Amino acid sequence: MNNITNHHKNLFAESIESFDEMGLNDKLVQGIYGYGYEKPSLIQQRGILPLLKKRDVIAQAQSGTGKTATFVIGTLQNINRTTHSICVLTITPTRELAFQIEQSFKEIGVHLKVKTQVCVGGTRLSRDIRYLLKYNPRIIIATPGRLFDILSLNTKILKKLQYVIIDEADEMFSKGFKFQIYRIFKFVPKLCTIGLFSATLPKEIIQIVETIMNEPVRIFVKKNELTLEGIKQFYIAVEEKWKLEAVCDIYRLMKITQSIVYVNSKKKAEWLAEKMSSNGFEVLCLHGSITQADRSAIMKNFRLGIRRVLITTDLLSRGIDVQQVCLVINYDLPTSKEIYIHRIGRSGRFGKKGIAVNLLVKNEVFVLREIESYYNTTIEEMPLDINEYL
Ligand code: ADP
Ligand code: MG
Repeated sequence: MNNITNHHKNLFAESIESFDEMGLNDKLVQGIYGYGYEKPSLIQQRGILPLLKKRDVIAQAQSGTGKTATFVIGTLQNINRTTHSICVLTITPTRELAFQIEQSFKEIGVHLKVKTQVCVGGTRLSRDIRYLLKYNPRIIIATPGRLFDILSLNTKILKKLQYVIIDEADEMFSKGFKFQIYRIFKFVPKLCTIGLFSATLPKEIIQIVETIMNEPVRIFVKKNELTLEGIKQFYIAVEEKWKLEAVCDIYRLMKITQSIVYVNSKKKAEWLAEKMSSNGFEVLCLHGSITQADRSAIMKNFRLGIRRVLITTDLLSRGIDVQQVCLVINYDLPTSKEIYIHRIGRSGRFGKKGIAVNLLVKNEVFVLREIESYYNTTIEEMPLDINEYL
């Protein structure tokens, strides 16, 4: 564990309020403006610089505040053009998030012409490896299982790595992934810069990660600022057997663009999709047992707005950014308070307005009250003039 003074920590507390003043290379700045960004968000104002200076970073900021571009810009600038090896490794918990992040690297880095590759499960391992060796991507975005399989067979490919970025870091250091991440870090060179990004970062996790980091710059948003600002939250008290009816009513009532409905199991997702379809709604259904090819097609249709309702599980609760999502429905309440903010945060991206509706069965009222007090927010009964809130 590193013992650093406050002075040291705050060296990078400085905010830079314009992309022009960050000392970025012209092509990168062009890519940023071309992507439609005019001004850095708060996390970008504080998080990009330390990465440029190759400092380890622990960054926590509310969902939808632009963490992705923070590490995309912070790492793209320094990509070593003289090697043919991987320079940036980004690790994410889900495949969908990996593809989304790759898109940000590609679009923001469009004038830098650096190659990217996504390495995730559900595709052929041999193909991933063949591509890696043939095309020499400088940036890879991977899920932990596939990454570890690749590293076991090609132990040297991270030899020249400059940055490891872990997105949704709390999830990645939680029980399910923790040991995979440790094993992966055995392949990461000592001098590599580490960046951790997440909306929530419990104390226990910070203690764990500090042991693998070198004097990290910490950028935190205080917990009471994680209030889901801009997202109106409602509940409807309803018996389980009337939930389907309630959801159909919401869609009849509301003029929505895109929306996501969360349930707690794959089976229920399939069931609900089937029921809503037979009620005349065009829905998409995505969960972890669907083949990778179908998962990609479903995400594409949803992003393009071909279908406007996506029924899914917590597989898609983290990080996914579809700008037009203005409504999230919790058909089932999430199983933990932390997941709530990830689900609800799929709407109201980057300061847009959003609505969340929670369907509650009787004995769940106390769960909702707990969520309210944890996030210091209010969740009211859904009014009839709901369209006013859109
Ligand atoms: P987070 O990872 O913090 O939850 P994302 O990185 O997914 O958030 O960004 C949320 C949305 O905000 C994305 O659609 C992204 O393109 C947009 N965004 C990020 N930074 C900016 C910016 N500086 N200006 C305008 N839009 C931005
Ligand atoms: Mg994110």
